[in-house]
Amino acid sequence: MAVASGNPAEAATRDHDLAVAPLLPLANGDFARNVQRMIVVRFAAGFGVFAATVICVYWLRLPLPETWLYSIGLFILLFNIALYELTRRARTQPEPAQTQVITRLVVAQVAVDWAATALFIHLTGGISSPAIVLFLIHMMMVAILLPGQSPYIYAALGVGATLVIALLERAGIIPHYTVIPALPDALHLDPVFILAQLTFLALIGFITVYLTATTMKLLRERERQIATLLRTTQVVSSSLSLDEVMESLTRSVAQALDAPAASLRLFDSSGERLEMAVAHGLSQDYLDKGPIRVSQSPLDQHVMNQPWVIIDDVSRDGRLQYRDEVLAEGIHSMLVVPVAGRQRVLGVLRVYAYQPGAFDEKRAEFVRAIAQQGALGLENALAHDALKQADQQRSEFVRVATHELRSPVAGAQSLIRAMLHSLAGDMTEDQRDITRRIEARLDALRNLVDDLLDLAASQTDISITPSVELHLDRILQNLMSEWSTQAAEKQITLEMNLPTASQVVVCGVETDLIRIFDNLIGNAIKYTPPGGRVAIDLAAGPVWVSTRVADSGIGIPEDELPRLMTEFFRASNARHANIPGTGLGLSIVRRLVTRHRGTIDVQSVPGQGTTFTVRLPYSCGESTAATGS
Ligand code: ADP
Repeated sequence: MAVASGNPAEAATRDHDLAVAPLLPLANGDFARNVQRMIVVRFAAGFGVFAATVICVYWLRLPLPETWLYSIGLFILLFNIALYELTRRARTQPEPAQTQVITRLVVAQVAVDWAATALFIHLTGGISSPAIVLFLIHMMMVAILLPGQSPYIYAALGVGATLVIALLERAGIIPHYTVIPALPDALHLDPVFILAQLTFLALIGFITVYLTATTMKLLRERERQIATLLRTTQVVSSSLSLDEVMESLTRSVAQALDAPAASLRLFDSSGERLEMAVAHGLSQDYLDKGPIRVSQSPLDQHVMNQPWVIIDDVSRDGRLQYRDEVLAEGIHSMLVVPVAGRQRVLGVLRVYAYQPGAFDEKRAEFVRAIAQQGALGLENALAHDALKQADQQRSEFVRVATHELRSPVAGAQSLIRAMLHSLAGDMTEDQRDITRRIEARLDALRNLVDDLLDLAASQTDISITPSVELHLDRILQNLMSEWSTQAAEKQITLEMNLPTASQVVVCGVETDLIRIFDNLIGNAIKYTPPGGRVAIDLAAGPVWVSTRVADSGIGIPEDELPRLMTEFFRASNARHANIPGTGLGLSIVRRLVTRHRGTIDVQSVPGQGTTFTVRLPYSCGESTAATGS
């Protein structure tokens, strides 16, 4: 007993996703998590203000405006509770709304933090306050959270706020609080001291922001690159679709480098021109400029033997075939990497930037790694496409050839039948015997032609997806009555057991289902000796509709079962018994069952019988069909 089973370029407008990219400071989850961390730190700051005030006033006996300080602490805590709640709610929203709301909340909290810190510094001694360093911590946090120029603007605001406090206190417009009695009284009035404090604050502040911001930028880019590599590897190793691999490759590279545009060009069959395969962020005009002739493009000739080529300034580089068009597109720097397969270069990956000098070796190395991954996927997808094409051509050839054979065979059959019915005059017994043998050979030939046509159809119609609800019980009943005469002639009992539910619905293609079960029932009758039995059982489970076609026939030798359902295979016992057949029926059945996302199993004991079980899913894709109505 054993089992056999069956189971051009894209014209892209400016990419909106990329336009949003700079707003997303970190991978979204991390951004929200960092904001929550900032909120936790603020809770500590709120309690810290309370604790520090108590220590300073009651222990160190410093002359501080305690009511104000407690108020600031309380305000920080209440504001923070509100922020905590708003951020929690925002995190339940879908992207990109979530990041937009959280970004707004970050801006709001930074502004309030700044105001609270400025007030706190004023209340703890203004320009001579030891709390001035608090601004540095804030600057660092803003540089962690917000991308681009914002941290520098916030740093300037912090220094500006301290300057304003110092000037207002110096002019006597707002009072000055002396926190550390040991400090000279007039220290906050001393312009040299004010200048020195502000200079150090500005210097250390900007250095802190610069170091934090550049480190964060690097981290964000690295994070995006790792995510891109992972995504590309996943797509490349799991997809055989050429479009999907090319699309993923180009889009991921642009996103990972935060580049406004990227493209993938592949060599055409002549190997002389690079045709646009996928593009992101390039205008239609740019795409319309047509393929690149490698012989006229020194850049592409150059890159074939290099790991990459960086064009820092398009306007000064003479290696481009379409330099004016590139400049008209607003592109000023470019990174070009060959997409090298195992044996040949398949094409080139280009990443574009609107400013000169946007690419360095680190970025180039990353794009090269992606291109190497992508090349593997492209080769697999190209090979798969070529195989599919060859398979389709073969099926098409078989279809055309057999179709052409069908008419002469059918003609010969009817002529022979006419002779056997003595329409061409009487025949001797010997002549009749020979003519009958010719008729049998022609019948076998006709069966082969029909099976080959069915096989070709089952291979070429692969795009037809099962999508109609069909009553399988009715299909089987019709087939039963079609086969009943032949079964009766062989004295074979033909029976069918339906489930209690009156109707069994499956999603399928009617002609395919008829072909599947016509083949199985026909085989069961053909390979069962006279006096035997053929039973069809239909059972509806929760996921599958299961149909068993069981016979008490000659069975199949166990060691031959693995080859069953391969094209032209016939079991040895069937051949020895001279039972006519082509060995194609089951391979057609297997293909059709697979197309229906079903399975087919066979169990057989030689001399006792064979049971084929076909399981077909109720649902085709999203839709579900019910049993019994
Ligand atoms: P054909 O019946 O035309 O030879 P099939 O592809 O339908 O081609 O079947 C392939 C082989 O599987 C048959 O030649 C036969 O050896 C074996 N087979 C199929 N169905 C049965 C069955 N019900 N009982 C015994 N052998 C079977």
